[in-house]
Amino acid sequence: MVKASALDLIENTPLVELARLHRGLGRIVAKAEFIQPGGSMKDRAALYVIRDAYAAGKLVTGQRVVEMTSGNMGAGLAVVCNVFGNPFTAIMSEGNSPARAKMLEALGAKVILFPQVDGSVGRVTGRDISAVAEHAITYAKQFGGYYVDQFNNVSCVEAHYYGTGPEIWSAIGRSLNAFVAGAGTGATFIGVSRYLKEQNPAILCAAVEPAGARVLAGEPVKNPRHLLQGMGYGIQLPCWQSDLVDDYMAVTDEDAAEYRHLLATREGLHVGFSAAANVCAAVRILESGRLGPDATVATVLCDTGLKY
Ligand code: PMP
Repeated sequence: MVKASALDLIENTPLVELARLHRGLGRIVAKAEFIQPGGSMKDRAALYVIRDAYAAGKLVTGQRVVEMTSGNMGAGLAVVCNVFGNPFTAIMSEGNSPARAKMLEALGAKVILFPQVDGSVGRVTGRDISAVAEHAITYAKQFGGYYVDQFNNVSCVEAHYYGTGPEIWSAIGRSLNAFVAGAGTGATFIGVSRYLKEQNPAILCAAVEPAGARVLAGEPVKNPRHLLQGMGYGIQLPCWQSDLVDDYMAVTDEDAAEYRHLLATREGLHVGFSAAANVCAAVRILESGRLGPDATVATVLCDTGLKY
């Protein structure tokens, strides 16, 4: 099989059954999002954002693209911008893992690291993210760049509404009982849940948050410094639709670390902490028995473990 470009390596990821990790009743199927060229599910959002910006006349060949990123959206944008012929600047928090900045630089992106406000290395908070976003907006204005604005850009949700959601539905269909995912911008959870509930409103959609930062569940932030990089910023999300959420689940750093280890050692899947948190929540739903013994729960393996 020959693909025309790296863009054709984005989307249509396979689902993998986690039968060695979850040995109880029911089954967990996880979308292998980490196999895309930027190493995460954010490649999908990047592809839609750039394609839509060209179609709307907001972006032209050679124009700089600018985004604030925890690294994954940046990697996706670097891949897509390289194929389209746009230079790319990623503005990141100093708290994001150095592996991400390295990957971006290897892809030819200009990387600007911005100091943290109240987080620490490996633990990036909502306030850190807001400061990075402000800097990115100023930078884009200064250099005439196209600012992606992933938290407010509807193309990000559409990538999952038109891509991830239908892919899960066409692979599993009527036997799907639940979908579980964490939220960074919320694009994955909202896009997929909206599509799946349109197909079958009985599908249970559960949003995963870090145990100390359950803002979507309506709780105050107790600990913004968690390990689940890329999700759980403890802020309200512009795309969020609470009518799509049947349950809010919390995962601790310790649980995420344990499930990350289990995914690697039992399944041979070396993925990041948010992927592990998703799988931990999926196991809990099955163990609760609320879906019955033959239930199928789908989730996403957000990114590769090589980024940490
Ligand atoms: N996990 C990781 C590792 C991520 O990078 C992101 C995106 N920031 C998410 C989860 C959450 O994805 P979304 O922005 O679609 O909610």
